[in-house]
Amino acid sequence: MKPKLIQKYYDANQKELLKLYEYPSGVRLVHCTRTGSIEMSAGIAFKAGSFYEKQLAVPDGTAHMVEHVIAGTPNRVLKTFAELSMFEYGSKRRAWASTNASTGNLVAKYYGYTNAKGSLRLLNYLKWEFEKREHDFAKQIERERGVILSEFKRNPEFDKDPGYQSDKFLTDNLSPDRTKRVIGNEESINAITAEDLIKFYQATYTKNRAVIGVQTGVALSKDEWKAVNELANRIGEMDSSVKLADPTDPTPSYKLEMFTYHDDLKNDVYLAITYGLKDLEMGYSPELHAYTNLLCRLVGYVAYKQLREEKALVYNATYIRQRTVLDLLHLGMRTGVDPKKLPETLDAIYDLFDKDIKAFIESERGARWLLNFISGEIYPSQPEHSRYSCLDDATNILFGEKPFGDIKGYRKIIRSLSLAQLYAGIEYIWQNLPPRLWLQVNAQPEETAELIKNSKLYKHFEKQKAKPFETYREFVAKFIAVE
Ligand SMILES: [Zn+2]
Repeated sequence: MKPKLIQKYYDANQKELLKLYEYPSGVRLVHCTRTGSIEMSAGIAFKAGSFYEKQLAVPDGTAHMVEHVIAGTPNRVLKTFAELSMFEYGSKRRAWASTNASTGNLVAKYYGYTNAKGSLRLLNYLKWEFEKREHDFAKQIERERGVILSEFKRNPEFDKDPGYQSDKFLTDNLSPDRTKRVIGNEESINAITAEDLIKFYQATYTKNRAVIGVQTGVALSKDEWKAVNELANRIGEMDSSVKLADPTDPTPSYKLEMFTYHDDLKNDVYLAITYGLKDLEMGYSPELHAYTNLLCRLVGYVAYKQLREEKALVYNATYIRQRTVLDLLHLGMRTGVDPKKLPETLDAIYDLFDKDIKAFIESERGARWLLNFISGEIYPSQPEHSRYSCLDDATNILFGEKPFGDIKGYRKIIRSLSLAQLYAGIEYIWQNLPPRLWLQVNAQPEETAELIKNSKLYKHFEKQKAKPFETYREFVAKFIAVE
């Protein structure tokens, strides 16, 4: 009955004790005890996002509609819409609770939070959401279709969104299953049948595709353990023989490519130079995290100093370090430029990589900059409280990542890194890896692209030899020891 403790980790920075458990059924549980919290939050993450729709031959938007029916319509216990919404109300005798659900490309999540005194109600609520729901799909489908069509109309031009377009460009336009809109489109939403919903629900909402997350201020009481175990037992009854493949990471092409996005809301030229590295492991490694973090910050810092302070060409320049929808880790820099100053700025970016960063790291100021960064790790600031970090951990676990970040390991690496090691990585990229250039421009996008192609910077990129892909780990291992 009681789950087996698989791993334990204490995060001194967050004052959090994290524990990963596994039930005999295969259901996993992440429990986070956060000292000082007066709240309790809990949720379940299922590998039940829109990515899996194609494998089950159901229309786009099915995953999202399943979530709407489960979280948004009455269940066995809360039998009417009135009961469903009144469940959240507090009174003088009981604590309020707030619940919600969301669907992404990979996971569907059901979650809520309450005062510590409301924990049992919240855990029960999560269990009720998954009790015998199959025939609710036929009963509620038309109602939820109406709601979802309205949800869709809030932003029908989503495909034209620059964030969406840049994600697609940065990931080589690969895998439409990963980049498609979770909600679907009008046609596909109208095509979904109750059978589709049941088929998707039964194949993806299963014990091996679920991780429960619970976050409390103190250890779980006996009653709370009982409620968590009951929830886990309910999920443990959900099973399927359908096998579904998880997404694989794409291989970046390392071809010099430029994408021009016409943005009529902006008057500057937004230029991003980015390098995708294949993030195969997806796992958190302190070496990879520390090295790329510091490398990007060094580029961003010197870019800001040179382009803004020294040369007064731009308002801001910063680094890029983001994971895109397809789990490529993008490193790079970005800046907004007055179109009139674009030629000069491109030359300044050339100089930045060609000599300015090197001059900075060899200067007294460079040494002080690194020391200041290390100081911030020795004397950290108050971390932000994340109510649902246990659900983020749950999602990581679902996709085979290491369950908990290693903050101690990260600090150790940061303290040992030298500017020469960081510069070696920057120089390697500058000499070898052709970037992808994302350009967001209002007037005359073609002329702007032409101007960039004629710059010394672009001509340098053209000379770079496209290398075969490298993983994030292979890249970092060139410059520091990686475990
Ligand atoms: Zn929705």
